[in-house]
Amino acid sequence: MSSNRQLDTLYRQVIMDHYKNPRNRGKIDDGSLTIHLNNPTCGDTISLQLQIEDDIVKNVKFIGEGCSISLSSASMMTQAIKGKSIEEALKLSKVFSEFMQGIAPPDDLDLGDIEALQGVCKFPARIKCATLAWKAMEKAIEEKTNEVSVSDSHCGCEMKENESK
Ligand SMILES: [Zn+2]
Repeated sequence: MSSNRQLDTLYRQVIMDHYKNPRNRGKIDDGSLTIHLNNPTCGDTISLQLQIEDDIVKNVKFIGEGCSISLSSASMMTQAIKGKSIEEALKLSKVFSEFMQGIAPPDDLDLGDIEALQGVCKFPARIKCATLAWKAMEKAIEEKTNEVSVSDSHCGCEMKENESK
C-alpha cells in the first residue's frame, strides 16, 4: 500500500512544518484573554491568547512547550480559528474532538492542514496532546462569555458599595 505510505509521509511533513514553523506563535499585547493549560501525561504546556471582538476571533497567539503533536496542533488550531466567529470556532473544536475519536468530519467542512493529525486517533495517549490547544481555546471562549454575565451582576454590587460610602 504505497499510497498510504505516501499519505503518511505527507501528513508527517505537514505536522513537522507546523512544529518547526508554528503559525501565530507569540504574545498579544493587550485586549486579550490568556489561558494556561498543561497535559501532565506528556508534559505539554500551552499559553493561549485570544482577542475576541463582536464575537469574532480577531487575533490568536500561543506560546507552548511540548511534543510535536501538541505544538503542531496548536499552530493548526490558531490558523483555523483566526477570523472566525466564536460559534464557528466552537463547532470546529467539536468536529476536531470527534476527529480524534476516529469520526470523519462532515463533508462540507474542509479541515485543511488539521487532516494531517488524523493518525493521532490510533494512539490514545497522544489524543490529549492534540486536543490541548483546542481545550484552551474552548476555555478562553467560555471565560469570555462568562465575563460578560459576571461583570453585569458585579456592576450591581459595586453600585451598592458606592451608595453606602
Ligand atoms: Zn504531547
